[in-house]
Amino acid sequence: MTTSVSPDGRPAGDTAGITRRLAEVRERIGRAARDAGRDPKDITLVCVSKTFEAEAIVPVIEAGERVFGENRVQEAMGKWPALRERFGALDLHLIGPLQSNKAEEAVTHFDVIETVDRPKIAEALAKAMHKTGRRPRLFVQVNTGAEPQKAGILPGEADAFLKACRDIQGLDITGLMCIPPVDEQASPHFALLNVIARRNGLANLSMGMSADFELAIQLGATHVRVGSAIFGGR
Ligand SMILES: *Cc1c(COP(=O)(O)O)cnc(C)c1O
Repeated sequence: MTTSVSPDGRPAGDTAGITRRLAEVRERIGRAARDAGRDPKDITLVCVSKTFEAEAIVPVIEAGERVFGENRVQEAMGKWPALRERFGALDLHLIGPLQSNKAEEAVTHFDVIETVDRPKIAEALAKAMHKTGRRPRLFVQVNTGAEPQKAGILPGEADAFLKACRDIQGLDITGLMCIPPVDEQASPHFALLNVIARRNGLANLSMGMSADFELAIQLGATHVRVGSAIFGGR
């Protein structure tokens, strides 16, 4: 199977490869869940389609997936309205950092925002939700590795931030999300996210990517964000 490349150099159209890899990812999720004594139905696959064009996304929708992740508001606005029109209800997750001046667009175009990470964003989202009447589900991103360059609330500040989101902004936070440091074992980060979620009564854990989603499932992930293992390299 050859992979065609679009004029701007992005991979496109390896439909057979995408469909085969998706089936493998589903199978691996099922196996990891069963190995952990969990019901595979309790794990949502978020297909991370960032940088890929509709041409690559359509076969994944046609194979039955309805939950997708994008990391840029602008990019998502360019490709998802037409896909929603064509395929109906889809669940689109924002998994990249959000700027407060994009809050209204994010609330309008996304069904889930996984990257609530600071008071200013919580405030902007509350305002945008009030104005638009839209209420996407919200996750708080935790910077479990306390990396200076990475988005997310610090673990030690998570409880107070969650309380402020609820009590001050009236936001209904439904889960936590993390991206462990690339050069470290992921398991302590996944375990830490789970502990913070439990003590705050949060049911959802978005953790695990192509390289480590099985480990994340073992440690309690309810949402795994898988891009390259489905769509191929970016
Ligand atoms: C790109 C991205 C993913 C998917 O990464 P893969 O390694 O391609 O599976 C998951 N989460 C976030 C936040 C991302 O930006």
